[in-house]
Amino acid sequence: MIAEQQNILKTYFGYESFRPGQSEVIDKVMSLTNTLAVMPTGGGKSICYQVPGLARDGTAIIISPLISLMKDQVDSLLALGISATFINSSITSTELERRMTDIAAGRYKFVYVAPERFESSVFVNVMKKIKIALVAFDEAHCISQWGHDFRPSYRSIVPNLKRLRNIPVFMALTATATEEVITDIQGLLQIEEQHVINTGFARDNLAFHIVKGKDRTTYIRAFLEENPDKSGIIYTATRKQADTLFEQLEKRDIQVAKYHAGMSETERKLAQTSFLHDEKPVMIATNAFGMGIDKSNVRYVIHYAMPMNIESYYQEAGRAGRDGEASDCILLFSPQDIQLQKFLIEQSLMDENAKQQEYRKLQSMVNYCHTQGCLSKFILDYFKDRTNQENCGSCSNCVDHLEKTDITEEAQMIMSCVKRMGERFGVSMTAKVLKGSKDKKIQEFNLHTLSTYGLMSAYTEKELTERIHFLVAEQLLATEEGKFPTLKLNQNSVEVLKGKRTVDMYTAPIPTGEDDDYY
Ligand code: ADP
Repeated sequence: MIAEQQNILKTYFGYESFRPGQSEVIDKVMSLTNTLAVMPTGGGKSICYQVPGLARDGTAIIISPLISLMKDQVDSLLALGISATFINSSITSTELERRMTDIAAGRYKFVYVAPERFESSVFVNVMKKIKIALVAFDEAHCISQWGHDFRPSYRSIVPNLKRLRNIPVFMALTATATEEVITDIQGLLQIEEQHVINTGFARDNLAFHIVKGKDRTTYIRAFLEENPDKSGIIYTATRKQADTLFEQLEKRDIQVAKYHAGMSETERKLAQTSFLHDEKPVMIATNAFGMGIDKSNVRYVIHYAMPMNIESYYQEAGRAGRDGEASDCILLFSPQDIQLQKFLIEQSLMDENAKQQEYRKLQSMVNYCHTQGCLSKFILDYFKDRTNQENCGSCSNCVDHLEKTDITEEAQMIMSCVKRMGERFGVSMTAKVLKGSKDKKIQEFNLHTLSTYGLMSAYTEKELTERIHFLVAEQLLATEEGKFPTLKLNQNSVEVLKGKRTVDMYTAPIPTGEDDDYY
């Protein structure tokens, strides 16, 4: 069975191996277990239903909230030679009839539908008659009233779906689900705890930044001038902000597109196409733009103002770097943003309970803007994602907290050790000797007798290797390339050893007083 799935992955999609979580999800679905997959954007959720959809007999029904997403997905399946179609309000009634006839005849492997379709008895009657391979809820957070994109029709169709006797298995897939939303989806679709596959939310290629106290327009103009070739999205909190910023940038001949719900459908389509095709590489938009937009080369997402909650923020910011390349997520924060968001919550039609919930979420968003800790970790903690506990090292907080430290003495110790080791060993052995490690190899090579053995025992091996790599990167130590690159001294090292040159490095400050004397 596993081999069959691998085979499908390779033959249809051309991929060699599954990404984390994919194969677990597919296995469960194949054994007809209702499953929830929580994977980050770009994590490869589609494969999770496409592979079992192909492996099983019958038609896979994918419930999707967005028309643009459906068309893209269907187009890419058709391009791979897989029969697929979509049913939504964008097609004519003749076309609808034709597609329904084909669905009834079982001619499609995949059918994408909007949830509203299940309110039509004609559609439900066809569903009753065909062989269904699986039913998948894409963007499943829309099912939950706790989700930030709650769609009542997503939720209300569940009881109707359950009445259909021919659905062998349900799947739910989402990139953004808090614990509440996960529990809600589990309850609705009867998904047991052990059948929730959560690969975590971490997006290692995204660097998060918070910018405070700057004039937003000036900042954005300068950013765009410095990054003229990159594609990016600038999210504003209101249509008015989008309009104003658009005008200001267009006046300066910057190629920008604009998208918000106040524009006509034709205008929006035009803007979206020119952005997707890179004719206008920068999109200024409200949150009306983006869900289901699969543009892989978005290099940055700037939030002109703080959004309402972390769920929205992470989803919008996460539209950067879907191709896995390094990308920036910048939030321009000003205290007035809080007032604006409060006003928007107050003005909304939510009941009092829901408003309180939104205020709590807003507070977390505000905390994010004020935290001194790693921004990436803050977000992951918010989603209770404990899969990775390390600081990212690339967000504005991680970077800003680095301090320039004089490490000349440490560099001298490392260099003397390299010399004493006969310039015959690599980074990790050198670190082990300096640490005073009990590793067998040290004994084998008799390195424990050197005067530099244990000379830097107060450091961790990781800190030592970091410093050695830094010295190599700064060309203060040389390496002889080969399978096991060995460290050598060069002219710069000699200068450092003689005290003719100092070495500075950016290091994270040591949090406790205890370690101060290392520096
Ligand atoms: P998501 O819906 O989770 O945001 P997608 O399903 O759109 O992600 O997948 C993101 C990208 O990763 C797509 O280009 C997809 O073809 C690719 N992809 C998915 N699974 C794999 C895999 N196992 N190996 C290589 N690429 C993959």
